[in-house]
Amino acid sequence: MDFKIDNVEQFNNINEAHFHQPEKAIDKNSPHIVICPQCGGESYRFNEYCYNGKCTFGIKQYFDYQEWQEKEQRRKALLQKKSQRLVIFTLMGFVTCLLGLYLGSLHPVGYFVFFVAGYLALVFNKAGQHVEKEIKEIGTEEYK
Ligand SMILES: [Zn+2]
Repeated sequence: MDFKIDNVEQFNNINEAHFHQPEKAIDKNSPHIVICPQCGGESYRFNEYCYNGKCTFGIKQYFDYQEWQEKEQRRKALLQKKSQRLVIFTLMGFVTCLLGLYLGSLHPVGYFVFFVAGYLALVFNKAGQHVEKEIKEIGTEEYK
């Protein structure tokens, strides 16, 4: 048979042939039952298509995308907590650093505190920036 990509009727025929397979009854005890957002019928979570009558809604892709989005939101929430902690650590390091500077005027060990705390504050700050960048990227990433 000649196959023309711009022949819509040909495509329709192919779809009908494909989706006129005998419908399998839904097993009500299956943990993978989902409601098709297009036709409202029950289908299986991992079905490529809905299969309710002529409904050809892409079930698997739709729910894969939903799950991916939820996963990304959870990841974002975790990163935001991490970011908050790093801001607190950075501030604590900075305050300790200043305290070390003051102590250094009383005893040389204060300068040691100044350098160590100052270094840690920089490390925490850098890590915080990295986390912030990761958070920003979550909204812009494409679903694969
Ligand atoms: Zn459907």
